[in-house]
Amino acid sequence: MKNNPPKNNPRYANGSLRRKHRARLRAMGCECGICHGRFGPIHYDEPSDAAHPLSFVVDEIRPVSKWRQFGYSSARAAAEDWDNLQAAHYFCNAQKRDKTASFSLDFGAKMTKIPKVTDGSW
Ligand SMILES: [Zn+2]
Repeated sequence: MKNNPPKNNPRYANGSLRRKHRARLRAMGCECGICHGRFGPIHYDEPSDAAHPLSFVVDEIRPVSKWRQFGYSSARAAAEDWDNLQAAHYFCNAQKRDKTASFSLDFGAKMTKIPKVTDGSW
């Protein structure tokens, strides 16, 4: 037998765990952790892209890019930490980008209406 089982490939394992977390968040069906439901429930059945601003994405509460700052051993550790993940709208996640968690506290207050979408489908 010359083929290594997939679990020996770190990249595969990483993707697998991320998928598991994503599936778990989806199954929980929580409201958006960034706007806290201000824009309504997450549209879990829609594809996650810019055309569907209320679609579901996995948001990293503490940005993975700042893993050192938050005391993680690696960027991957931050990305795989279940406690660092929350469900969010595609739109809210895009607005947040790499800002820290404190941003989400101000976010709802600043936003007064649902973002405009050029295609007008919603
Ligand atoms: Zn949201």
